[in-house]
Amino acid sequence: MFSARRISLKSISGFNPKFASTLAFVESSNNKITPASLSALNAAKKLNQPITAILVGKTSAKIVKDELPKYSANIEKVLIAPDSKYNHYLPEEVSPLLQSILSDSSNDFTHFIVPSSFTGKSLLPRVAAKLNVQPISDIIAVEGPSTFQRFIYAGNAIATIKSSDSLVLASVRASSFEPLEAGAPKELAVQELAYVEPEAKVEAEWVGENIMKSERPDLGSAKYVVSGGRGLGSKENFDKLIDPLAKSLNAAVGASRAAVDGGFVDNSLQVGQTGKIIAPDLYIAVGISGAIQHLAGMKDSKTIVAINKADDALIYNVADYGLVGDLNEIVPELTQKINDAKG
Ligand code: FAD
Repeated sequence: MFSARRISLKSISGFNPKFASTLAFVESSNNKITPASLSALNAAKKLNQPITAILVGKTSAKIVKDELPKYSANIEKVLIAPDSKYNHYLPEEVSPLLQSILSDSSNDFTHFIVPSSFTGKSLLPRVAAKLNVQPISDIIAVEGPSTFQRFIYAGNAIATIKSSDSLVLASVRASSFEPLEAGAPKELAVQELAYVEPEAKVEAEWVGENIMKSERPDLGSAKYVVSGGRGLGSKENFDKLIDPLAKSLNAAVGASRAAVDGGFVDNSLQVGQTGKIIAPDLYIAVGISGAIQHLAGMKDSKTIVAINKADDALIYNVADYGLVGDLNEIVPELTQKINDAKG
């Protein structure tokens, strides 16, 4: 299996944990806390200090009432900003709110944690720039209150980063932390916040969203993933072979960038450096060569199965099991055998 080198980038002390506490940004979708936010909360828990959760938008009160109490064993306090301007997480709207909370010295926050979602990735640098703090993106481990690990060089090495800032801003790679476990609900202290007017006129506007309807589990959080690559040859062949195999395992469907560029699937299904970074229990790569940018998105999967006709394909370097041969023969046979075994 893949192994990463460890590089220590810098070693600076000076962090003062006297009044340490964490502000954690919690996102929701369809009235549920997102799995990435639960992973970020789990990372925040590893800091061993009180956590304040912040939720924004019109659904925040409902989530605080119905969902968040299950995780309250690890959460001290909740801030909600229910103004409808925050409904779609427009970073131009939300970042001034976060900036005002974090720059208020009476709050004593020493850490701000966001999930590495589209929203988190967009919010973190904006808030960091305004507060003149160096953000630490995509952390994969918490080593101490100011020390974190993150991948560098497309996942080929691990850097240990020690922050010297008195406020640490970090985004959390969801696939590196289990979601926070639910427990017995406890009542939470909730404080409601008003809308914070941005300094400049907000030019961005939320227009709408296209939600892809799929019977398959969500790629970002699925236990099993079947991904197809250029080797499938066409969208028709992708649909004909990958979908039934994914269905037989109740797996999510993923794809390489070449498959996305070839129009086989929507780009929301791309796995890799510039797509989703996932670590399912089982990842089946079909007709995927194993380019480094693809490996960056799936090499932490617990078990990797590769199906490729080239026995020297790079994907076999990270695969636990390899089926060398023509995918047009192997995939239908494998699908049939799985369905037969299920009875
Ligand atoms: P190929 O490399 O063409 O491999 C196809 C494979 O299918 C081959 O190994 C071949 O042996 C096999 N095959 C063909 N026919 C059959 C058959 N009948 N039976 C069995 N096997 C068969 N890529 C990503 O995936 N994700 C990313 O996020 C990503 N980000 C990128 C970012 C940058 C900045 C750059 C430069 C590139 C990025 N790429 C990314 C692209 C990446 O470099 C590769 O080009 C891409 O992953 C290749 O996709 P593939 O493996 O499907 O295609």
